[in-house]
Amino acid sequence: MGKKGRLVIISGPSGSGKTSICKKLTKNPEIRQSVSYTTREPREGERNGIEYCFIERSEFEKLIREGKFIEYAEYCGYLYGTPVEPIREAIDNEKVFILVIDVMGALQVMDKMSEAISIFIKAPDDKTLKLRLKKRLTDDDAAINERFMVAKEEMEYSKYYDYCVINDNLDDAVKEIEGILELSD
Ligand code: 5GP
Repeated sequence: MGKKGRLVIISGPSGSGKTSICKKLTKNPEIRQSVSYTTREPREGERNGIEYCFIERSEFEKLIREGKFIEYAEYCGYLYGTPVEPIREAIDNEKVFILVIDVMGALQVMDKMSEAISIFIKAPDDKTLKLRLKKRLTDDDAAINERFMVAKEEMEYSKYYDYCVINDNLDDAVKEIEGILELSD
């Protein structure tokens, strides 16, 4: 530790609990999280520039042309992308920098930065996954079903990741990831 920064890719379907895991992980001052750009609308409580930078599709396409993203992907009809510049800065200045991105974006980053550590987070089973999706009152039934189908497809890609973590209990999953990142003693 205390060496150069490390890039960590975290993926997992909606309902895997990756957002809660990353909220806990980033309480550790050694860990920073990338802020992605997206064309989707903010959900209640989401702040521009904090959870995401919310932009129009035309602006997003301009940033693609300018080479501002290390990766980008379309997910459920919206574009999501990781800005490249903060990664460079973070590797020089921070100890651990996490990208919470979908599998398509993750494959692009693995290709470009082979030193990145990749972690896939899963819900313990389908029933738990569906329940977690239903608890999200922000999405309607059609959106929940679409996300469930997408989740099943995404799970197929877990074999490309360095580690797979089952999120049955939030604190245990966080501890397991801290262990992988050698942050716990
Ligand atoms: P949500 O709309 O639920 O916040 O995110 C939908 C999916 O997009 C999640 O799997 C999330 O990890 C992924 N995502 C968020 N930011 C990025 C990004 O910058 N690039 C890619 N490829 N996926 C992202």
